[in-house]
Amino acid sequence: MPRWIAALALAASVIAQAAPVTVTHGTLTVTYADGRDRAQLPLVFRTWDRAAADLNALGLTAGAVKINVASNAADFARMTGEPASIAASTRGQTITMQRLSALAARGILAFTIRHEGFHTAQPHGLPRWLAEGLARLFSGEAAGDSAEPTGLSGLSEAQLDARLLGRAPGEAGEAYREATRRARTRVRTLGWRAILHGR
Ligand SMILES: [Zn+2]
Repeated sequence: MPRWIAALALAASVIAQAAPVTVTHGTLTVTYADGRDRAQLPLVFRTWDRAAADLNALGLTAGAVKINVASNAADFARMTGEPASIAASTRGQTITMQRLSALAARGILAFTIRHEGFHTAQPHGLPRWLAEGLARLFSGEAAGDSAEPTGLSGLSEAQLDARLLGRAPGEAGEAYREATRRARTRVRTLGWRAILHGR
């Protein structure tokens, strides 16, 4: 075929690959651009349904939520303004995630869905450290935390919040673990409902 037709065909196939696909599952809408992510949708939907039921049991409501899946890490950074190294970012009812197949390959797709699902349903006004700690307890990520001291127990809550926000490489992991340690203590003494609903 003439070279210009081959070039057109190539351009068309690139556009076809990049065209986002939107699928809905109840009140959840997922938009993805990389066709490989389609294979992860059953896990996403199953995880979402379980998370919604678990949120309900805590007196929280998973509302209408959109998951926008980036086509690659650079795309994720462009969409969120966050470092390309993090798994997901939630603003209100919209979750932006790395490629589903990339998260699945790292074994963190279900954790990420549950973690961000908690953020979409959490009460307003939770301090950052408590929201992150509770999200990691809710998601199940916290079960893999080391029991070693974090070295951050002397930080004030405001300092811990700043550390979480900074996402400095090598520091953020310990800050998330410290936030989770404090949230776990609070859940043990007060219970989820008292923390979430003030009673
Ligand atoms: Zn979080």
